[in-house]
Amino acid sequence: MQVDITPQQGAELLARLINNELPDKHGRYGPFGGCYAPETLVPALSRLADNVYRYLADDDFMAHLDQQLSTWVGRPTALTHAQGLSKRWGAEVYLKREDLAHTGAHKINNALGQALLAQEMGAKRVIAETGAGQHGVATAAACARVGIPCTVYMGAVDIQRQAPNVDRMHQLGARVVAVESGDKTLRAAIDEAFRNWVADPDGSYYLLGSAVGPHPYPYLVQRLQSVIGSEARSQILDQTGSLPDVAIACVGGGSNAIGLFHPLLADESIALLGVEAGGHGPALGDNSATLAAGKPGVLHGSYSVLLYDNDGQIQDTHSVSAGLDYPGVGPEHSLLQALGRVNYVSATDTDALNALQECCAAEGILPALESAHALAGARAWAKDNQGKAILIGLSGRGDKDMPTLSQHIPSPLGEDKGARADD
Ligand SMILES: *Cc1c(COP(=O)(O)O)cnc(C)c1O
Repeated sequence: MQVDITPQQGAELLARLINNELPDKHGRYGPFGGCYAPETLVPALSRLADNVYRYLADDDFMAHLDQQLSTWVGRPTALTHAQGLSKRWGAEVYLKREDLAHTGAHKINNALGQALLAQEMGAKRVIAETGAGQHGVATAAACARVGIPCTVYMGAVDIQRQAPNVDRMHQLGARVVAVESGDKTLRAAIDEAFRNWVADPDGSYYLLGSAVGPHPYPYLVQRLQSVIGSEARSQILDQTGSLPDVAIACVGGGSNAIGLFHPLLADESIALLGVEAGGHGPALGDNSATLAAGKPGVLHGSYSVLLYDNDGQIQDTHSVSAGLDYPGVGPEHSLLQALGRVNYVSATDTDALNALQECCAAEGILPALESAHALAGARAWAKDNQGKAILIGLSGRGDKDMPTLSQHIPSPLGEDKGARADD
């Protein structure tokens, strides 16, 4: 993707990003970001922005958030030296274990932080969108904890595909609304959640699930997820006495990746690698590799890199992992790619499935299919960089993926039947 930024402008933008001077007051990350919202939502978004800057700088609010992260979410999550993978790959591999966080993924860091913010802002109800259901589950849990009713918009197709998560949301007290418009998946669910917010912008709080959307969401989500990279940085220093050579994370909308990367941006010696979903392969429609194949445009209120066809229509995407199946990416990632500070590659469905099985066998950890893309990217990186220290953001656990895994990976039970006759 080609963007006109001179090397001098690039160095300046990176310095401002590191100093938390970006996004600017218009929500811009250099050419990216902004706030392309319907007029009816502009007052709600600017009120949200005011409260984001106010509460993220409020010591009492942040102390309360930290306390809840520690006693309810289970932070800090562990940093695990992956001894089996290290041996196999010829590198020193460390896993930042967001799979151990409450509800099974990094999404709870954001959901809890925003639910507490909604409470401070006096919201009567929370609205959220969900694709695979992971953000819906995290939001339902956080809202139950904080005591605010919650409505989750979910595409009708996803409701069919992700029935166990729909049940989890119901158990946690959320109302789940089926979205029958558009593509009936995540993209339509976000549209519908915004539409609902327009109808009641003062009483409702829209709890967005990734580092995407109009300002201030990409900034808010980055700040709430940066706990991942801050913890990992001090844990790896404690355990090894030095910083890793590379940090690697999967990229859907980009929230777990920006949470890992942002606190490491100033460490010039650390290479940063984002891994997108390569799906079945490079043809348009066969993957969700937004930064590898997309062009700048506006989607869901933000100017960022997107997948769209020659007529400007947003492209349908594919990935074996529902959490990476989105045609856009957060604006901070688009800037980091343009600046060359983060390198973005992709891993195919097959690469991810293989890496998932290897992690199970070597580490006794069943990663989420999303996280398996980061593992696949790390394995490929290690081939060319033997002996280096690799920090991997393991964004979530794979229990939710069992139905997909049973489709793609034959169960050994059938084959073993004969051999086990004498058990
Ligand atoms: C949702 C999800 C992702 C993708 O979302 P990002 O915003 O890109 O982090 C990655 N991993 C897991 C486990 C998820 O649930």
